This record gives sequence, structure tokens and C-alpha cells, in this order.
Amino acid sequence: MRALIPALIALPVAAQPVPPPRPAEFAPLPALALTPPPDEPPRAMSRQFTPPPAYMPSAPQDAPLAYAPAPPPAAPPLGPGGDACLALAASGLALAETLAPVAGEGGCGVLDPVLLKGVVMADKRIAPLEPPATVRCELALEFARFVSGDIAATLEKDGAKIKRLISAGSYDCRGRNRQAGAKLSEHGKGDAIDMIAVQMSDGRTVVWPKTGDVALGNALRTAACAHFSTVLGPGSDGFHEEHIHLDLEQRGHGAKICQWSVQ
Ligand SMILES: [Zn+2]
Repeated sequence: MRALIPALIALPVAAQPVPPPRPAEFAPLPALALTPPPDEPPRAMSRQFTPPPAYMPSAPQDAPLAYAPAPPPAAPPLGPGGDACLALAASGLALAETLAPVAGEGGCGVLDPVLLKGVVMADKRIAPLEPPATVRCELALEFARFVSGDIAATLEKDGAKIKRLISAGSYDCRGRNRQAGAKLSEHGKGDAIDMIAVQMSDGRTVVWPKTGDVALGNALRTAACAHFSTVLGPGSDGFHEEHIHLDLEQRGHGAKICQWSVQ
């Protein structure tokens, strides 16, 4: 038996295969990397998904927002003559009220009417227009320029002032010269005004169709025909013997009608 034991010990022992060492990259990650640090409170995760306070509405949806733009200032209704209404207001030459658009039949109507109550003269006096005229803005502005400029220069030479302007009509939905079947009058568009006279501060009344003064009558006619595209007075068609018709009708090539026989 003693001989067997050393023999067994002496037998060469076959080398057992040893697995190669694992590369470092396959080493299990430290447990610390997979678990939250013990000192990290759970609320830290939920806070990441909460919208920042800056994106939260500060008021109910239906409440007015503090940064809402202010509404635009109220403006008068503007039609095709809108620029003329602004020019009329900017001129400071007219005492006028904005009116609602006028709708009439047969083509009548005014999109941008004003009630022209008077003309502001150079010294800021107001020469009232009686009765007030319903006209479109462009006509009102041209009439105010006409009176405060040329008419004042013609009639106020001797120191007397224009006290009152006497009119015979303005907006009126009708045919020309009140004739049945006639073409629509410019009066039906708020584009005309009829003038009778001017009362002066010295008591005189200058009746335009019958001034009794040729030089004065010619001056009035020249001024009227410079400002308006249509001027009809005595001697024109038999319908304007007692007043002077003034309008701004647009014609081809800017043609004008100036028919007023001074008496
Ligand atoms: Zn007329």
C-alpha cells in the first residue's frame, strides 16, 4: 500500500483549462450606477417633467389678458371718399358732423356723408350754413375751401365779414332738375350744393344769381368755376335762375361745365 500512494502522487496531473480573464468592458457595472444615489430625493425626477412656471397661464382662458393690444380708436365709416373725410377733418375748415351712410333707390346714396353746418374762416369765425347740407366729404371740403378762400377774399374786402351762408339744397334723391326719367342728379349722390346768398356783417345780402354788380358777379362765377366741375346759374337751362348749382361730377378728360350769365 505504501508503494501505491507515492505512485498515485507522482502521476502527472493534467492541466485544467482556465477561462481567460474577462475583458474589463464586460465587467458588471458597479451597483451604484444602477441605483439612485441614496441622497437623491425622488422629487428630483418628477420635477424634470413639470412645465416651468413661465409657461403656465397666469389667468383663466376667458379672462382678458393683460398684454392684449388696445382696441383701435373709433373711426368714421369710410367709403370710397374715406381719404376725403380724413382730409376734411384735418383741414379744420368745416363745422361738420359725420353721418351714417345714406342708402337710396335708383343709384341714390352717400357712403361718406357729413352734415356741413358751417365754414371756419381764416380768423376762426364760423360762417354758418343754413340750412346745413348733407354732402359727401369731398364736396364739403371743396365748398369749405371755396368759401374760406376765394369767396371771403371777394366779399370781405371792405372789412365786412361773411355772417351767414344761405343754401337752397344738398342731398336729394331725384333726377336732374326734378324731371321724371332724367339722369340721376349729383344731388342724389351727396355731390352737389345749391347756393342762394351770403349775408354780410354790415347788413348786406349778396344774392348770387342777382348781385346787381357785374364785377362782383364775375368774381363769384370765376371762383365757383375754379373749384367745381359743374356750375349752373341764370341762363344755363332755365332751372337755375334763382340759385347757383355747384357739384363735383367727374367727366372724361376733366371736362367742366360753367354756365352762369352774370346779371
Ligand atoms: Zn343743384
